[in-house]
Amino acid sequence: MVLENEDRIDVLIGGGGVAGLALAVALRQGLGDGFSVAVADPALDRAPSDPRASAIVAAAQRLFAAIGVWDAVAGEAQPILDMVVTDSRLTDAVRPVFLTFDGDAEPGQPFAHMVENGPLLAALLARARATGVMLRPAAIAESAPSQSGGDVSVALTGGERLRARLLVAADGAHSGIRARAGIPTRGWNYGQCAIVTTVAHERDHGGRAEEHFLPAGPFAILPLKHCRSSIVWTEHAAEAERILALPDGDFHEELERRFGLHLGEIKAEGARRAYPIGLWIARAFIGPRLALIGDAAHVIHPIAGQGLNMGLKDVAALAETIVDAARLGLDPGAGAVLERYQRWRRFDTMAMGVATDGLNRLFSNRSDVLRLVRDVGLGLVDRMPPLKQIFIREAAGLLGEVPKLLKGEAL
Ligand SMILES: Cc1cc2nc3c(=O)[nH]c(=O)nc-3n(C[C@H](O)[C@H](O)[C@H](O)COP(=O)(O)OP(=O)(O)OC[C@H]3O[C@@H](n4cnc5c(N)ncnc54)[C@H](O)[C@@H]3O)c2cc1C
Repeated sequence: MVLENEDRIDVLIGGGGVAGLALAVALRQGLGDGFSVAVADPALDRAPSDPRASAIVAAAQRLFAAIGVWDAVAGEAQPILDMVVTDSRLTDAVRPVFLTFDGDAEPGQPFAHMVENGPLLAALLARARATGVMLRPAAIAESAPSQSGGDVSVALTGGERLRARLLVAADGAHSGIRARAGIPTRGWNYGQCAIVTTVAHERDHGGRAEEHFLPAGPFAILPLKHCRSSIVWTEHAAEAERILALPDGDFHEELERRFGLHLGEIKAEGARRAYPIGLWIARAFIGPRLALIGDAAHVIHPIAGQGLNMGLKDVAALAETIVDAARLGLDPGAGAVLERYQRWRRFDTMAMGVATDGLNRLFSNRSDVLRLVRDVGLGLVDRMPPLKQIFIREAAGLLGEVPKLLKGEAL
């Protein structure tokens, strides 16, 4: 099929996860009907099945409010009112608390909310429909800049062909779009997996998040509405596989050994799933008529719950870059426009990758000597803790050149 120029989409986004859909809505909202935006993802016509919940920091919450999505999830969003961090062996009767923090990112605004990924995706999809984003429930099978250099040509599974002035890779950690563009990633696997499940408990958590640094890695209890918590339970990969395959009763026992009984009786609910953990950062965030966002650009350890928040910073920076360019009559896929986006996001991403990697190395270790070193260092922790710094800095989101959406401003 030969496509006319009028058929050319301004921005085509491959991947309708949180990052891809948020970018689509931000662009339509900022540029209106004269600017066409499409999202292609085979998952668009399926009910969201992601069992995870995400800690959404205040800056990301402001972005969701600015793009008209926050109201739809706010009722079920659980504010994180304080956080305790402990460091112990699995067999320790008492887990010494070495770090606590509470408070607001700004007066009246909790530093983070727990939001379940399923309802968040559903709210974003509804908003994408309402703002006129074109939705294609198909995967991107091929993509390449056209010979003229004026656009990118894309084939979807099912045979449809599209042309766009800019292609955005939002297709997750194993991005096929990134691979086809020949952009390598740098990083490593940690040999760990995060087991995710939801737990119902007798007593309310009072909005408290807990992170227990056990020898195999962090075990996080993250508060949800209705006396429930989301569990992110890090284990070495083989052990995670074993635990995941256990019959319900044995799984419950392993869970209870780590969770404890401080919130009364517990019960695992719904799906349990394991996610391999690694640190992967793309060598470039842009290519010819191509920009990478979210996990397609970077994957970090979930130790500080910042992966999606970083993806939303990409969304805010790229949306602002494209909107500014389009208002000046510039081509959104032009090299100079994309360079601005890359400059904006690369350094911050590297800094967060290094910070979460360091935390994981410090805490995921069975050595008692390292534990002692940590304990000594941890005397300082309440004053200058890396974890605390990450949360507070990211929650406020007010350092450096902050994109408008993260300040809650319209584009
Ligand atoms: C256990 C765990 C806990 C986490 N907790 C937090 C947290 O508390 N806070 C936080 O900020 N982050 C957290 N993260 C990180 C966060 O989940 C990810 O960063 C986030 O989901 C990435 O979103 P995304 O939209 O970039 O990619 P994804 O969610 O991976 O979406 C990619 C989309 O692309 C689609 N796709 C794939 N291939 C194609 C193709 N060829 N064509 C078209 N579409 C395609 C897929 O169907 C999918 O819908 C956690 C991660 C893990 C593993």
